[in-house]
Amino acid sequence: MKFDYDLFVIGGGSGGVRASRISSSLGAKVAMAEEFRVGGTCVIRGCVPKKLLVYASHFSEDFEDAAAYGWTVPKATHSWKTLIANKDKEIDRLNNIYHSILDNNNVELFRGRATVVDRNTVKVGDKEYTAKYILIATGGTPVMPELPGIEHAISSNEAFHLDEMPKRVIVVGGGYIAVEFAGIFNGLGAEVTQLYRGTQILRGFDSDVQHFLAAEIQKKGIDLHTHANAASIEKTNSCLKVTLDDGDVLETDAILFATGRRPNTKGLGLEAIGVELKENGAVKVTPQSQSTVDNIYAVGDVTDRIALTPVAIHEGMAFAETVFGDRPGAADHENVPSAVFSQPQVGTVGLSEADAREKYGKVDIYKSDFRPMKQTLTGGTERAFVKLIVDAKSDIVVGVHIVGADAAEIIQSVGIALKCKATKAQFDATIGVHPSLAEEIVTLREKFVAA
Ligand code: NDP
Repeated sequence: MKFDYDLFVIGGGSGGVRASRISSSLGAKVAMAEEFRVGGTCVIRGCVPKKLLVYASHFSEDFEDAAAYGWTVPKATHSWKTLIANKDKEIDRLNNIYHSILDNNNVELFRGRATVVDRNTVKVGDKEYTAKYILIATGGTPVMPELPGIEHAISSNEAFHLDEMPKRVIVVGGGYIAVEFAGIFNGLGAEVTQLYRGTQILRGFDSDVQHFLAAEIQKKGIDLHTHANAASIEKTNSCLKVTLDDGDVLETDAILFATGRRPNTKGLGLEAIGVELKENGAVKVTPQSQSTVDNIYAVGDVTDRIALTPVAIHEGMAFAETVFGDRPGAADHENVPSAVFSQPQVGTVGLSEADAREKYGKVDIYKSDFRPMKQTLTGGTERAFVKLIVDAKSDIVVGVHIVGADAAEIIQSVGIALKCKATKAQFDATIGVHPSLAEEIVTLREKFVAA
């Protein structure tokens, strides 16, 4: 049977764009539908603008630290409008680059919302197109809990476009997005209260990292409440009144819910044609990203495996090479390094201590909690933390966790070592870079023994 396209990709985010580009370079005739802006969550309303805001917010601390190094910095003021305008300009530039990538790779782009009509037909607007393969790469959307007054709250999507920088902000949630935005608003001078419903933020991370980061962000001024949640929101003439589940009432100018994300499959028509979804709406896929309909695949956040851009890109590549190339293979989800752009940053790869104990039984723990060199002159109280988890039997390092300046940059290279199954002896044989935070990774010698 002759189709209009070899591949129709629904969703122009990181996974979809990479899959379409590689498939096209492997000879496939490719089309894509995108209802909003090409670039997806990461480029348009996620990783990229977030990191620009993190840079902006860190200056306040840098100005303070500068005095100890001999600088006289006049009282600094900040323009939120300038920051947002410059950020928007950069996002437009990246959006254009993504369009060029599609153009240069002969990927035909349809602007509009696509639905799946049958296993080989996609509808965009009132037009139908046929394709041998369909790739679902529709990403995810913030989930807002249902509570009275939730219409007065924002998600991360709106946080990037606020007209004014709020003086007081409540952030609800304890995951990546909550922690990052709490740090951004705090650095930019807002009074920040963070509400987390559980025992400690960053659930699932190594528990030392959870506690260490919680202490650090509190030192920087974030008022963190654990076992706390918002129950209702009321808008008055001058502020938002947020009633907590214990009855306390807080006044604020903005309340941001970073309470998780949901895969975008609603109304796509997938279930009707036999594509099975998980309970949360994610597309069920094999390690090769194939859905329960064999010519329909899915990559990225819509599959709810690991919701990270580089993982979506990797899944998109693996899909293209499996279906259109001669290198069939599964996406690899082991030892994926990641970072939380909190202040200070968290970098992590491999297992937490709890998960390592469960998997390997006996593990050796090495950790160090220290004052970074920069603080020696400033008198600042920020500390750094490095932890190594080693499988006692094989001596292989199975987890590395860092909290401190540039942890994201450091953990990338450590990820290579874990991918190579490096042993603690090989870490020890590596000469440190002095003076640096990263040298702790290769100089830790004493096993940590719990008191
Ligand atoms: P997460 O799932 O990481 O965190 C959601 C948080 O909200 C959790 O603390 C959760 O609590 C809490 N929560 C969930 N529902 C409610 C509720 N009804 N009321 C109160 N609290 C609630 O989601 P995020 O939105 O932070 O991020 C989504 C994903 O995006 C991340 O998992 C990550 O993969 C990716 N991401 C990566 C970044 C990076 O690489 N730097 C940056 C941003 C996002 P509990 O712990 O109790 O479940």
